[in-house]
Amino acid sequence: MDFWGRFRKRGNMIFTDLRFGTPGIPSRVQGTIEGLIEVSKLGLKAMELEFVHNVSITEEKAKVVSATREKEDVRLTCHAPYYINLNAVEKPKLEASKKRLINASLIADLCGAFSITFHPAFYLGMQKEKVFENVTKALKDVQKILDDNGATIRLSPETTGKTSQFGDYEELLKISKEFENMQPCIDYSHMHARNNGGWNTKEEFLKIHEMLEKSLGKQSLKSLHCHISGIEYGEKGEKKHQPLKESDMNYQELIDVWKEFNVAGVIITESSNIEEDTILLNNLWRKKR
Ligand SMILES: [Zn+2]
Repeated sequence: MDFWGRFRKRGNMIFTDLRFGTPGIPSRVQGTIEGLIEVSKLGLKAMELEFVHNVSITEEKAKVVSATREKEDVRLTCHAPYYINLNAVEKPKLEASKKRLINASLIADLCGAFSITFHPAFYLGMQKEKVFENVTKALKDVQKILDDNGATIRLSPETTGKTSQFGDYEELLKISKEFENMQPCIDYSHMHARNNGGWNTKEEFLKIHEMLEKSLGKQSLKSLHCHISGIEYGEKGEKKHQPLKESDMNYQELIDVWKEFNVAGVIITESSNIEEDTILLNNLWRKKR
């Protein structure tokens, strides 16, 4: 694909600052609109719509969300339903998975989100090359429907936390190259857990961002949609999320690396304490600037 085609498509997703957002609505309020106003008040100005269990916003409501987002200057991302397997063998299951991703993407697009992340698939014991092929094919179908509907939201497959899940970093960089408008949602904690403790030093964090730049171009560093949290893990990867301070996640050095690369976009803090860790990172980032 040609470079300028890619650049043009990504034009509205290149940011000049890095923001820290909550995974869903902050704990003190209820409702998406109230959530947007609250993150704005907290000085965070970013939030992830959590459609992980279902798409909880109607088309009508999405328009109100979009207007509020614009008024409050909140940068929005979305997390698609967990219940997706783009490598499902049975056709009805595969079609249902595509449909879930499409529905979530179209509503999130109407809300004004710039990126939607999702856990793409399970290997189901199949050869990794075959799974890559299946997931690529399914995502081409999804992308076509989004394009046909004029949706500009970016599909951002997430680096997954378990070794049974499709979505190691190299796989996602490779699949992103097959599309005009795709880049991985880097979940630093998932990478760390999947690797049973790797990807957690300054050198490794540098490498993550170098690989992104090399694979998808400099502008991808200005369009981050990433996740971080404290995490418990074992040989098979992720066990559960925990607060950053209770974990071995080396977030201080990660912040140094963000600064070094002068990244922009959104970091969603997926810890169990919702806004607490988001505010922690936002403050640390501001101090170091
Ligand atoms: Zn996720």
